[in-house]
Amino acid sequence: MPEQNSPTQEPASAPFDRLPLSPAVLANLGQLGYLNMTPIQAASLPISLDGHDLIAQAKTGSGKTAAFGLPVLANLNVLRFGVQAMVLCPTRELADQVTQELRRLARCEDNIKILALVGGSPMRPQMISLEHGAHIVVGTPGRIMDHLQRGSLDLEALNTLVLDEADRMLDMGFYGEIFAIAKLCPKKRQTLLFSATFPAEIGELSKRFMHQPQEVKLTELHASDKIRQRFYQVEKDQRLQAVALLLNHFRPVSTLAFCNTRQQCRDLLQVLRQQGFYALALHGELEQRERDQVLIQFANRSCSVLVATDVAARGLDIDKLEAVINVDVTPDPEVYIHRIGRTGRVDQDGWALSLASENQMKRVDAIAKEIGTEVEWHPLDELEAASKKPLLPPMATLQILGGRKEKIRPGDVLGALTGEAGFTSAQVGKITVTETTTYVAVDRRIAHEAQRRLAEGKVKGKTVKVRILEVTGDAQPREAVPAVRRRDR
Ligand code: ADP
Ligand code: MG
Repeated sequence: MPEQNSPTQEPASAPFDRLPLSPAVLANLGQLGYLNMTPIQAASLPISLDGHDLIAQAKTGSGKTAAFGLPVLANLNVLRFGVQAMVLCPTRELADQVTQELRRLARCEDNIKILALVGGSPMRPQMISLEHGAHIVVGTPGRIMDHLQRGSLDLEALNTLVLDEADRMLDMGFYGEIFAIAKLCPKKRQTLLFSATFPAEIGELSKRFMHQPQEVKLTELHASDKIRQRFYQVEKDQRLQAVALLLNHFRPVSTLAFCNTRQQCRDLLQVLRQQGFYALALHGELEQRERDQVLIQFANRSCSVLVATDVAARGLDIDKLEAVINVDVTPDPEVYIHRIGRTGRVDQDGWALSLASENQMKRVDAIAKEIGTEVEWHPLDELEAASKKPLLPPMATLQILGGRKEKIRPGDVLGALTGEAGFTSAQVGKITVTETTTYVAVDRRIAHEAQRRLAEGKVKGKTVKVRILEVTGDAQPREAVPAVRRRDR
């Protein structure tokens, strides 16, 4: 394992109130349920709040957004117009996630305007929003460059530049854009760089535009006791079938299954669907809209298994993962650490289950070295289905045609379902409003009824079209909620 500062002995509790934060910010953190700092926050906030440039490395899900969000807010003067902080993110999704998290962190102060500037949506509305003024912009390098070239984004007032998921941005070939953008920022500023891994290019990049950055690295599993790791030896032709055995045995509500290749993703998806699992795949060939839908369905628990490659899954913030399955052993032990970090998050236990064939034992040894203990082997034939019933996701997603453009807000949809339609709020899950579409998760058992009632009633005073979003590919159309439907009707 590479030498790092060893934060494994993290303090039993690291409350935020030891930091120089305003009472309003502290109260808001309490309301968000952020009782203690995560290790990366505890290690980096004293440095960043003191005004230093920072390079911070920590795995996905470790709370990096607040680690840069709090210094960004601390540097902000709400009364001053003009963009004072800019966060660069590799993808639209990540920029949207960061925007949402920053808004949550900023809600203790009135009128902080945070704007997402991402590709894939039209320029005009973004330009208009910029004209109205924003304190913080979050965007993808390509789109930010575009605004800078057109003169619609002015960085004169900027005091904080953040690079989030810097390694991923470099993977995507944004080196040139990042460098060009940094050069257009005022020299006197604070620069914060966050990354899950630390390739040589990051060192290079930072040398070119950061000012005596301090480094904080936390790559080890700080929550290793919450992640229960098991290895199973498989023959090559058993591998995909073994994933189904694991699912039936452990019956996790949400599982992320990592494949080494796209072909393996496709094969696994097919095997799982044939057996009735509600599985979706995330891969590079999806259009943005399809990708959004997949993520929404997985995050709102309408889909049991998300099959993905490492590249497709990097940086996604998905909570409540009961299990991660390594369908194949990754040759890079650091990747293993990142993968299993998706489970056993802040306050929950998780399973990290790995399938290895005889010829992959060298890779397993490398992993054992990286995690610093022997891996725990279990025989495949100890796996028994814990129930004869198919593993169904608890929720189903209704898709409403109409979104932000129609001024629909989550509360309108919740109101329509719990008002006249007569459902309880416990039967309604996550509500996601996008530009043109609204997705609402409802208890699987009421999906058809909820669809009917919504379509018959009104949302925001208007009749809306509603359909049940299927967790199946175009390849094998299938009824959305078969098992329940038969039971209920
Ligand atoms: P990263 O960027 O490192 O992948 P995020 O910033 O997306 O991680 O945070 C992961 C999750 O942890 C988010 O749901 C966030 O709201 C939550 N979180 C962040 N900081 C804390 C904290 N101090 N206490 C509890 N939850 C936190
Ligand atoms: Mg992040």
